[in-house]
Amino acid sequence: MRWNPRLEGMRAYEPGKTIGEVKREFGLERIVKLASNENPFGCSAEVKKFIAESGLETELYPDGYATELREALSDHLGISPRQLLFGGGSDELIVILSRALLSENENTVMPWPSFPQYRHNARIQGTEIREVSLHEDFSHDLDGMLKAIDENTSIVWLCTPNNPTGGIIPHEELKAFIRKVPEHVLVIVDNAYHEFVTDPAYADPLTLVEEFPNVLVLRTFSKAYGLAAFRIGYAVAREEVIAKLDPVRPPFNTNVLGQQAAAFALADQEFIARTRQQNVAGKDQYVRFAEAHGLNCPVSEANFVLLEVKGSADAAAYELLKRGYIVRSGDKLGTPGYLRITVGTQEDNAGLLAALEQVLAHGVPEA
Ligand SMILES: *Cc1c(COP(=O)(O)O)cnc(C)c1O
Repeated sequence: MRWNPRLEGMRAYEPGKTIGEVKREFGLERIVKLASNENPFGCSAEVKKFIAESGLETELYPDGYATELREALSDHLGISPRQLLFGGGSDELIVILSRALLSENENTVMPWPSFPQYRHNARIQGTEIREVSLHEDFSHDLDGMLKAIDENTSIVWLCTPNNPTGGIIPHEELKAFIRKVPEHVLVIVDNAYHEFVTDPAYADPLTLVEEFPNVLVLRTFSKAYGLAAFRIGYAVAREEVIAKLDPVRPPFNTNVLGQQAAAFALADQEFIARTRQQNVAGKDQYVRFAEAHGLNCPVSEANFVLLEVKGSADAAAYELLKRGYIVRSGDKLGTPGYLRITVGTQEDNAGLLAALEQVLAHGVPEA
């Protein structure tokens, strides 16, 4: 078979161990998964009620245009319905954007460490990848990114709050950056953790879509809304930008249950406010632990923290796994020596930190 040669050496996304696997492997009863930034509080009770009662017509295709969700979301965001593009998670929107804009003759600029799907998809398109390292304090090197842009750049990716480091790009800096980016470059602001941010230096990046023709914001129902299983993400941009992207979207890319669940979830902003408050309290548990143990824990505005372990993060993650806690090792995410831990319920955070206390007391092996 004649495979696209660019697939040479590429690996599929490696999911973490499933809860069932960990239970069997380590003979454990209860597993706490704090690895994928899912919402530990579930989702809105309205969504659960709808799912229990939905008598869906399973033989019919979904509304490919997601009309009802589109109307609800455009009302909520105060934008035109034609400024929205829906995807099977923002993951699929990254695929659509890459197919629409990246080819062999171009380059794309992105931060590192950041969300790996930007470079994964750029590789498949055969596009030159220009990764610009974050500063030592994990903030975006926006000047470095500007320098990396040239006449052949088609997309510059930004992630705020950034995964896996958690920091935001302050609004004024973001705006000043976009002002300097040439108009032929699409600036994609991946905003998957928008709903968690409380820092006053942050402002809603959607205002930048009004101000600049070449900005696109990515959001998702997977994180704060607690609907990761349903795969609904969306892009917001100028109508002209969305109109160019829409033909690249598979016709029925979001499903019936997901569209309706997202609309119910959107209507329950009280759940989002409660999630945000509980997340602030949860982050604080980690920050206090880090201070007490002299470990670095950079300020996170998302629902995860990076926590230093002063040794091999792979080894520390494995020790936590044995004790029933699934987290991500930063050794694989571009932040060696750190764990990326999803902020869970107060009880699960306390349990994880007690387990980590034991692990640290035994000494974490060198990387
Ligand atoms: C989780 C995440 C996504 C993907 O979320 P979907 O479930 O595909 O909507 C995109 N970008 C970042 C930065 C993420 O952390």
